[in-house]
Amino acid sequence: MPGAVFGAGAADWRAELARRVRGELVRDAPLAPRTAVRVGGSADLLVRPEDPDALAALLRAVRELGVPLTILGGGANTLVADAGVRGVVLRLPQGFGEERREGSRLVLGAGAPTTRLWIQAHAAGLVGVEFVAGIPGTLGGAVAMNAGTTLGEMKDVVTEVELATADGAGFVPAAALGFAYRTCRLPAGAVVTRLAVTLRPGDVAESARVMQEDRDRRRRTQPLDRPTFGSTFTNPPGDFAGRLIEAVGLKGYRVGNATWSDVHANFISNLGGATARDVLALMALARRKVKERFGLALETEVRLVGEFLAEELEALRGE
Ligand SMILES: Cc1cc2nc3c(=O)[nH]c(=O)nc-3n(C[C@H](O)[C@H](O)[C@H](O)COP(=O)(O)OP(=O)(O)OC[C@H]3O[C@@H](n4cnc5c(N)ncnc54)[C@H](O)[C@@H]3O)c2cc1C
Repeated sequence: MPGAVFGAGAADWRAELARRVRGELVRDAPLAPRTAVRVGGSADLLVRPEDPDALAALLRAVRELGVPLTILGGGANTLVADAGVRGVVLRLPQGFGEERREGSRLVLGAGAPTTRLWIQAHAAGLVGVEFVAGIPGTLGGAVAMNAGTTLGEMKDVVTEVELATADGAGFVPAAALGFAYRTCRLPAGAVVTRLAVTLRPGDVAESARVMQEDRDRRRRTQPLDRPTFGSTFTNPPGDFAGRLIEAVGLKGYRVGNATWSDVHANFISNLGGATARDVLALMALARRKVKERFGLALETEVRLVGEFLAEELEALRGE
């Protein structure tokens, strides 16, 4: 159906994608249950391409039809707008992309949960991924966010990343992706489909012990009993966002059904039925107060996705 373009009739482009892309396509798919914090509206169309060919077809089709594309991993670090997301939200299936092991090099699929990294490493007698123990989400999301802890981060182990765009797919060296604290520079619209990690042989039992210790620490210091997206802001150099938020008196502060946690001040908890508006109000308040008191601009770690209101975003930016 040539001529079916985004916005020219929602039914048109969705029907066209359904014809061209093999996989699971869900219209008006609620996204809150697909995020860790359980907040936000629906995607016009949620697509899980069956395999790399189906992904290639999807990427070509959205480019051709002018449909906006949003990539969602496990939703562990994502806040979806109450009005939802226009266009396509792409999620890779767990088993997407062929896995391989060559000595101490593992190639893993980006749709797999982060646990896959240590499970496969340990099965091969390899260590060095202890940092990933308590980090929820997918391996694709972990690459995009350069996820990590004081024990290490993705950039320490990832050597190559397979990227798919409308122009094709292939591995690029990790060094080309500008990994930095909780971020990396992916080309616009590029989907991480696989990653190669190089690890070292070592004491797997000791590695498992370190990971268990980290999980126990999280249970003591993080509010894991309520939906959350983990750290809201990145830590400013030499300081902790949680310390700053606590210092301005917001620990335990509530707006609507969301609250700054009284366990870890950089975590927001959804008390049940929180809206993105509630969450953004908490974030804007913290940014404003920290800026006033310490002259520091907190940077958001959580990724905002979808149609937020201009005034909500302006309040967050402090305009
Ligand atoms: C309780 C809790 C604890 C946490 N602790 C930590 C921690 O210790 N350290 C830490 O770093 N993070 C932590 N996080 C945040 C989160 O787990 C990480 O950021 C994680 O890597 C996000 O992965 P995801 O698949 O859920 O990504 P999502 O939230 O789905 O997406 C995050 C970003 O990655 C992009 N993305 C996802 N998949 C792909 C892909 N295949 N290709 C291209 N882009 C993609 C998305 O577009 C988005 O911009 C925590 C979160 C929670 C809820």
